[in-house]
Amino acid sequence: MSENKKQIAILGSTGSIGTQALAVIANNNSLFEVYALTANNQVDMLIEQARKFQPEMVAIANESHYLKLKEALSDLPIKVFAGSDSIAQIAEMQPIDIILAAMVGYSGLKPTINAIKAGKKIALANKETLVVAGELICDLVLKHNSVIIPVDSEHSAIFQCLTGEGNNPVEKLILTASGGPFRTKSMHELEHVTSAQALRHPNWDMGAKITVDSASMMNKGFEIIEAKWLFGVSPEQIDVVVHPQSIIHSMVQFTDGSIKAQLGLPDMKLPIQYAFTYPDRIKTNFPRLDFNICAQFTFEQPDMERFRNLAFAYYAMEKGGNMPCILNAANEIVVAEFLKDKIGFLQMSDIIEKVLAKAEYIAHPAYEDYVKTDTLVRKLTKEFI
Ligand code: MN
Repeated sequence: MSENKKQIAILGSTGSIGTQALAVIANNNSLFEVYALTANNQVDMLIEQARKFQPEMVAIANESHYLKLKEALSDLPIKVFAGSDSIAQIAEMQPIDIILAAMVGYSGLKPTINAIKAGKKIALANKETLVVAGELICDLVLKHNSVIIPVDSEHSAIFQCLTGEGNNPVEKLILTASGGPFRTKSMHELEHVTSAQALRHPNWDMGAKITVDSASMMNKGFEIIEAKWLFGVSPEQIDVVVHPQSIIHSMVQFTDGSIKAQLGLPDMKLPIQYAFTYPDRIKTNFPRLDFNICAQFTFEQPDMERFRNLAFAYYAMEKGGNMPCILNAANEIVVAEFLKDKIGFLQMSDIIEKVLAKAEYIAHPAYEDYVKTDTLVRKLTKEFI
């Protein structure tokens, strides 16, 4: 371990964000060092990453892979752990400077809470953490002097637009949305789209869960909730505009009417790197945006009748309490079923709507209430399938 390099722990290192973060670290190995890597299930890739980056420790959530992982790294001085508790414990380790929270879904909540309580700087890619328990997370960040730097491209864009603005009041956040692969499909066509089609995103290369969320606009729904907590604005101050080219990553409108935007080619390595180097910027060799090639920017209103998830998210955000947690748990279940082709694309929203109406609402949830809500809503959602 080198004293003068930033020590980084990547929770979810085998996913799309995790592997791109490792590429950023490999390109800047005089600045960053991998302290810990954790994965859910992909043991072979974790072994390969551990051998290459030689972290102090690794952990795999699925305990049945423990022996294989331990064996494969036995010639190296790397500590090996298994189980989700060990991942939550790694998040507290003293030498870590930055935790990249890049797990999928609700599983990111516990380790992120631990990292915040340990006062860490969090590079947050796992938006579900803020969707599920935004209020609790924000309270903990203040209390433990932690800081969250967004990695989600829209929120990184807004964060970059706000940098240097001090306390200048914000009138509006304008989140851009690509519209996903089904932007121009009719309601009738949407009835028959498959998971394979949903997984073909036009602009962004991402994991399966978030790609389906993008196709259904649930991802944008989660992002408005994420924005509310990250930037402390009210629901009326968050707009969504469809921008199919995905070049403007999001915008901030100030009270004088001025709008700032952050632009670039869609590449998650940029927001990941910015979260690691903030407030500095460092040189990259990523391809540059060429205005001679990308000459046309277009904008559309999001269609909340075809993409009802976005309307559900506004509803959940305004309702508050455990409603966004209910929305997230129902969505995790329907997306998993859609990926297995057990339910159709439009059925996902139909089922979510029923769950939102039926699940028990708690206005002021504590951590345990979120845990309970998540468990109960997963069960309830399965009953509707
Ligand atoms: Mn995003």
